[in-house]
Amino acid sequence: MILELIKADITTIKADAIVNAANSSLLGGGGVDGAIHRKGGKAILDACVAIRNKQGQCKTGNAVITTAGNLPAKYVIHTVGPVWNGESEKNENLLAACYHNSLMLAVENEVKVIAFPNISTGIYHFPKHKAADIAITTVNHFADKEKIEKVIFVCFDDENYNLYLQKLGI
Ligand code: ADP
Repeated sequence: MILELIKADITTIKADAIVNAANSSLLGGGGVDGAIHRKGGKAILDACVAIRNKQGQCKTGNAVITTAGNLPAKYVIHTVGPVWNGESEKNENLLAACYHNSLMLAVENEVKVIAFPNISTGIYHFPKHKAADIAITTVNHFADKEKIEKVIFVCFDDENYNLYLQKLGI
């Protein structure tokens, strides 16, 4: 499994799947979620509504998969990151679950190339250095790693990009 780092808008990435930092409603929000729904179009929202009608809200740490609508990716994997509230261990485990469950869904759907944004580090205020450690560690320890060809960490802000540069040793 190759790890790649780029600074970009994730809606422009042509991967098999891009991951959305969604909220539990699955009905869209601000930040990367807003960008994905805006650019991906109504097909993504329709698919999210169908999932909600079937299973209700998406719990923190869980993930669901939909079409990517008009985006260049094939799928969007929506995962709900924890809102940072200072309960370190609980929040850290939930963030790790987001990466783990997204990768599990990727494998189930034969996704070979997956792009992650920096989940929870925007509106949800997860400390960026901790979040980067969790993202990299969880991806590196994923049991079915050989089934994924490439994981792209997509950073949007300089602070996250520089943290990942350091932590990935690039
Ligand atoms: P959360 O609610 O999980 O914190 P946000 O969308 O507010 O989600 O932020 C998560 C991360 O996504 C932040 O690091 C933010 O800079 C980044 N981000 C925002 N817009 C985009 C985008 N279009 N592409 C990639 N990353 C983005």
